[in-house]
Amino acid sequence: MPQTGFLDTKIEFLKGVGPARAQVLGEEYGIVTFSDLLEHYPFRYVDRTRFYKVREVSPQMPSIQLKGRITGLRTMGKQRAARLMARLEDPTGSIELIWFRGTSYIKDLLSKGGEFIVFGKPTLFQDKLNIAHPELEAATDHQAVAPPPLQALYPTTEKSKAKKLDSRALLRLQKTLHARLANEFIPDLLPAYLARELKLVNTKQALMDVHFPRDEQALMRAKFRLKFDEFFTLQLRMLQSKVSRAEKIQGYRFSMVGDLFNIFYKEKLPFELTGAQKKVIREIRQDTGTGKQMNRLVQGDVGCGKTLVAFMSMLLAIDNGYTACMMAPTEILARQHNQTIRRFCNDLGLETAILTGTTPSRDRKAILKRLSAGEIHILTGTHALIEDSVVFHKLGLSVIDEQHRFGVEQRARLWSRQPVPPHVLVMTATPIPRTLAMTLYGDLDVSVIDELPPGRKPVTTKLVFESRRLQVNGFIKKQIQAGRQVYIVYPLISESEKLDYKNLMEGYDALCRDFPAPGYRTSVVHGRMKPADREAEMKRFVEGKTQIMVATTVIEVGVDVPNATVMIIESAERFGLSQLHQLRGRVGRGADASTCMLMAGDDIGREARERLQTMVRTNDGFEIAETDLRLRGPGDIQGTQQSGIVGLKIADLGKDKAILELARSTATRILDKDPGLSLKVHAGLQHMIRRNQEAPVRWEQVS
Ligand code: ADP
Ligand code: MG
Repeated sequence: MPQTGFLDTKIEFLKGVGPARAQVLGEEYGIVTFSDLLEHYPFRYVDRTRFYKVREVSPQMPSIQLKGRITGLRTMGKQRAARLMARLEDPTGSIELIWFRGTSYIKDLLSKGGEFIVFGKPTLFQDKLNIAHPELEAATDHQAVAPPPLQALYPTTEKSKAKKLDSRALLRLQKTLHARLANEFIPDLLPAYLARELKLVNTKQALMDVHFPRDEQALMRAKFRLKFDEFFTLQLRMLQSKVSRAEKIQGYRFSMVGDLFNIFYKEKLPFELTGAQKKVIREIRQDTGTGKQMNRLVQGDVGCGKTLVAFMSMLLAIDNGYTACMMAPTEILARQHNQTIRRFCNDLGLETAILTGTTPSRDRKAILKRLSAGEIHILTGTHALIEDSVVFHKLGLSVIDEQHRFGVEQRARLWSRQPVPPHVLVMTATPIPRTLAMTLYGDLDVSVIDELPPGRKPVTTKLVFESRRLQVNGFIKKQIQAGRQVYIVYPLISESEKLDYKNLMEGYDALCRDFPAPGYRTSVVHGRMKPADREAEMKRFVEGKTQIMVATTVIEVGVDVPNATVMIIESAERFGLSQLHQLRGRVGRGADASTCMLMAGDDIGREARERLQTMVRTNDGFEIAETDLRLRGPGDIQGTQQSGIVGLKIADLGKDKAILELARSTATRILDKDPGLSLKVHAGLQHMIRRNQEAPVRWEQVS
């Protein structure tokens, strides 16, 4: 495939970009070539033909355009703290404009007088409307170069703005490139028959229109084409690697169901498996019986009983003469798994061990020795399991819990040193919407446990505002009198561990005043404690010696206490939806009705409110995950990261499901006909895949 020279041109060769700017573009946006700039897509478009009146302005509005005269121009503060304030007046009223940076330049501009056009996002500050750092231009300039009806707005970073590479500057660069692009021939990598059949505009047209659309319709068609390409490439890549792995990779054959499995199932299992558990175990038995390596993802809501499924799969491995391991993302979770597994194993005469970062070196040595000699049937642990010094004996099955915190590389390292790769079972408690699963785990087979063990009562969830604190305390006391236990969770704000600790400790002190000893006993657990202390505190709660557990989110994946029926989440607006759902899953594990209270400040924003109301409305993890994806739209940093994980720049996993489905079915159809993409018409597709492979998948950001 010929390189498309023009698109690969280094960005510093674009007029208006010198070495210094090229460096900022590279560092801040990863823009190195012309094609990178073209793929720095707008996150929004504004109608520049529309002017608002000051009277119409409200703080809910996105960026808007106003026209008026400047009255009152003044500088406040000194030097670094200096800010420039101005009033923009139109016939209907006036609004304050404020700048913290670049003030002298703006002051000069504004001092010239006359009419100005101002563009920015109105906000409310101390009960007054203002616009901070609006874009600004003299009305006369505006008329001279009338902007296109739909003007692109580009995502920017603080640093690039400080270096004068704001949305407008980017727009100017796009304009320069646009003019050059118009004269270039850009080959289309999609086969012509496909573009025709799907009625797609060609690549060049799409790249031109997405930045400078003539009208809404041109924009829609451009976006559709670009989104399709992103999903399609990804699907081709995933499906191809799945096919080639299924062909190539041999695995151990677990040919029989043996005594361990049968004895455990018939005699030791304290309850009946749910239908969904049985179904997934059956799928695993089928996979592991084929002689091909299994790569299966098991999704299931918190509390659906994944651990047991994993354990029974391990028994299957051991029955067939192999060993098994289970890797968890945190020390606490690894310990809990180890305890569960050991309890099951004791009766069966199986040997287990746990290996984590804190295992003392003497113990570690002993464990490794027994492990390589095949004396340990099941090894549980954290990342410590993938270190080179850990040598398994006939490792037949690797279970990975909470997949999303491990990278695909780490997954691979678990078996890269094995002569024959073990079967891999990945378990995730974060329900992933189908679209995301397809995109992130398109190379894995997916099982879903969509049923909770019987007798679980759904957790009642309430959104409670700070002003009702007294009632909440009353409720907690009642529950404790009835013999129940309570979690109180504080948010963890990662920028400042110190602050988290302070929040937690203040909360803890207040709590001890409201719930004084000896009537009430309280445990506290947080990330700063030594693992041993944390363990001891948890243990007290698990054994019922304390009734209240105050914690940061370390308990998220930590404890299983059926007697705990109340979950209070402080500053709930600060948590993401999936995190809230995980936390709520800590209660409702016993036979008693449970309650989750989401404590929120009185002035939370619209999106936070919608998030919390979603929690109140439903217990369904999949619905919550879908909402999460939808709420985190493009444009906001959080949301784009979610898409950025798989290198999506314009397609949105939450909103573009239909396009994803189309891409998936198209990719399947093409690979069915031409698995190696070796037909001449598919040469361009090979090129698309190669380009996609160069973009690293940022797994650590999956959340
Ligand atoms: P998760 O899927 O969140 O990892 P666990 O495996 O921790 O869930 O299971 C949650 C709880 O449910 C555990 O206490 C477990 O013993 C129990 N459990 C699992 N399967 C069943 C079942 N079929 N019937 C009753 N209880 C079950
Ligand atoms: Mg679990």
